[in-house]
Amino acid sequence: MSNPILIDPLAFARDGGQFDKELAIADLDERVHEVLASTAGAVKLSLSGFSDRLRRPSLRYALTANVELSCQRCLGVMPFEVESEGVITLFVNESKLDDAVAQDEELDAIMAEDEFDVLALIEDEIIMGLPLSAKHDDCGSEHLERAKADKPNPFAVLATLKKSGS
Ligand SMILES: [Zn+2]
Repeated sequence: MSNPILIDPLAFARDGGQFDKELAIADLDERVHEVLASTAGAVKLSLSGFSDRLRRPSLRYALTANVELSCQRCLGVMPFEVESEGVITLFVNESKLDDAVAQDEELDAIMAEDEFDVLALIEDEIIMGLPLSAKHDDCGSEHLERAKADKPNPFAVLATLKKSGS
């Protein structure tokens, strides 16, 4: 289990907090490891607090993660980069949150708790940023050539047959 990274979200937004963190994928929770081919790689997160134009406390995040997936075609390792960014708007009043979401479907709104787990945000964003079915664009000439080398060339076989027949 990974240890949470906790901030007080309202204070962070009010004070214009800034938080940068780089973590090894290996340090994330198992629920992330389950969807990856390995625990190699790292993730970088930048989080900042601000008040939006409606003076609502908000968190802006930008995340880049380099991970390894399994290719669904050749089962080989496939490096993948997750990039995600967004704004989370904090509310202390549930009916105001409901009104705001009704007016703006795009709004990523949450009720502000005393603690906000930055690590859970990182993990969620990685999981949601992965493709449903990972496939290499081109499953690597290396794999294909190895496959070819294992099988005898059909034209070479044909040539031997012709020779022995004559
Ligand atoms: Zn592949």
